[in-house]
Amino acid sequence: MRKPDRADVLVIGAGASGALVSLALAGRGLKVVCLDQGGWTLPANHPHFSRDFQWQRQNRWNPEPERRRGESDYPVEGNQSHALMWNAIGGSTNIFGALWPRYRPSDFRKGVEHGLAPDWPLGYADIEPFYDESDRLIGVSGLTGDRALPPRRSPYPLRPLPMGPCGRTIGAAFERLGWHWWPMPAAVISEPYDGRPACNACGNCGSGCPRGSMAKMSLTIWPRAVAAGTDLRPFARVERIETDPQGRATGAVYIDRARGERVFQGADIVVLSANGVGSPRILLLSKSARFPHGLANSNDVVGRYLQHHTLVAAEIWTGEPIHSHIGNAGAVISCEFAETDVNRGFVNGFNFNVARIGPAGTEAIGSFTNRPAPWGSGHHAWFRRHFAHGFGAFAIGDDLPRPTSRITLSETERDSDGLPAARLNYEPHENDWRMMRFAIERLKDLAQAANAIDYTINDYCDQDGTYRTPAWHLLGTCRMGDDPETSVTNRWHQCWEVPNLYVVDASSFVTAGVVNPTSTVTALALRAARHIADGFTELRTATKPIMD
Ligand SMILES: Cc1cc2nc3c(=O)[nH]c(=O)nc-3n(C[C@H](O)[C@H](O)[C@H](O)COP(=O)(O)OP(=O)(O)OC[C@H]3O[C@@H](n4cnc5c(N)ncnc54)[C@H](O)[C@@H]3O)c2cc1C
Repeated sequence: MRKPDRADVLVIGAGASGALVSLALAGRGLKVVCLDQGGWTLPANHPHFSRDFQWQRQNRWNPEPERRRGESDYPVEGNQSHALMWNAIGGSTNIFGALWPRYRPSDFRKGVEHGLAPDWPLGYADIEPFYDESDRLIGVSGLTGDRALPPRRSPYPLRPLPMGPCGRTIGAAFERLGWHWWPMPAAVISEPYDGRPACNACGNCGSGCPRGSMAKMSLTIWPRAVAAGTDLRPFARVERIETDPQGRATGAVYIDRARGERVFQGADIVVLSANGVGSPRILLLSKSARFPHGLANSNDVVGRYLQHHTLVAAEIWTGEPIHSHIGNAGAVISCEFAETDVNRGFVNGFNFNVARIGPAGTEAIGSFTNRPAPWGSGHHAWFRRHFAHGFGAFAIGDDLPRPTSRITLSETERDSDGLPAARLNYEPHENDWRMMRFAIERLKDLAQAANAIDYTINDYCDQDGTYRTPAWHLLGTCRMGDDPETSVTNRWHQCWEVPNLYVVDASSFVTAGVVNPTSTVTALALRAARHIADGFTELRTATKPIMD
């Protein structure tokens, strides 16, 4: 087996978290190697420049790997949620929505609040400086002053994106209800920034952003991380992490998919950043005589407590055109129902992501609520009344962590290199069902307040009652904690059982939080990188986790 020179740090996964970790560590002078199973998603590869750009979103640009079935993907089996992700340099940021709210202090304190989920071993104040640093590196647009999100020490790096008639219509509907709303913070640049052009409001955020105006890490962070010295290797699919007799990670075996050979990359420290499905999959694949249940998994926590936010959604059409086919996807956020109020019959809360619907094809297939435009004689009349008149509202809920919602290895399916696929099981807690039922009623209130001419609601339940939702936030499957019995890592993302192995992505989240996770993913990645760089000399030989 080929064995290239040893690295100081090996990062597995070049998505949002892997990009930030690599940049920060290479910037501190460490020799960093980063492996990703996918290649570069070049600007010209995006469908934006093709006449069938909408059709491509249904197949080769589908956010669901099960439908896309690319060579760089791995199957995620299971009959409940559909895991969404993109496997390439930049990871899922190649196709994400770039909505960028921060977790609020209460998101880290559910144990104290109601006890149905644990507290995080850290709080908002521990992460705050890294949120600011990540916002500056990535380029975030927003309007400072939202009292429902934590106060910011520094203003957003860029002024807010234009509201346009769609944002104003949504805001007016929330005003009528007396509910909180605010322009959605977005990792989409409203002005030229860091050599990248401002958003041109093309409206096709659903297929990523070939301009780099959205924070696609392959165009934002990766050029810098490579310039800082990271040895980034595409088409390098990690098969397993190896350990020595002392139980320390020695590196990883990967399949060089371009050359068709296995390679061992040694490193003093290994950072796993392969997302909430990929990271537990690799740990489970790395079982050995010393770790028979999978690496860092003697307590059987790896893969458990999967959360991906509950989701119910509405598509709401107004009588006047609101140009919702152009502009960035995320228009408005509302945290009106974000905090626990037990009088509603449940704990935790949800936010409304209120979004522009996007181009004609998205409208026609009813992609927000799965109700396609009528086909046949009534189609054109329907389309004239609906196209560019509507907006989508997603109620994204803080689901309770459950040990039975989990990632395991498939017993039957394999990826294109023959490695076992992931299997996903997810079932909402009874509390989550109550929250979703409440949210559906509030979506109806919103439709009424918007003077809707029509609306549809999607509860994501099949006729047999099975909840099948897109799962774009993959959280909690290697959770951090203060107790080695009930968590996989400590508060620095360092595995309790393997002190030179870090899990740095949303797998380490303890609870889902009430808003979109990636600003917290990137902030935590910078924080973990600081910890690794500061303690590097000690970590090279440590046999126990370093706590402070
Ligand atoms: C359609 C969609 C819309 C989204 N919209 C938003 C949004 O608006 N706001 C928000 O906050 N979040 C959003 N998200 C979620 C966001 O994309 C993720 O939170 C973020 O990308 C997670 O970063 P990550 O580094 O953990 O994982 P990823 O970005 O998914 O990267 C993981 C990387 O690991 C690699 N990998 C996995 N296994 C292996 C292996 N065995 N060997 C080598 N490499 C491997 C993969 O190829 C991939 O590149 C969205 C996601 C999707 C899919």
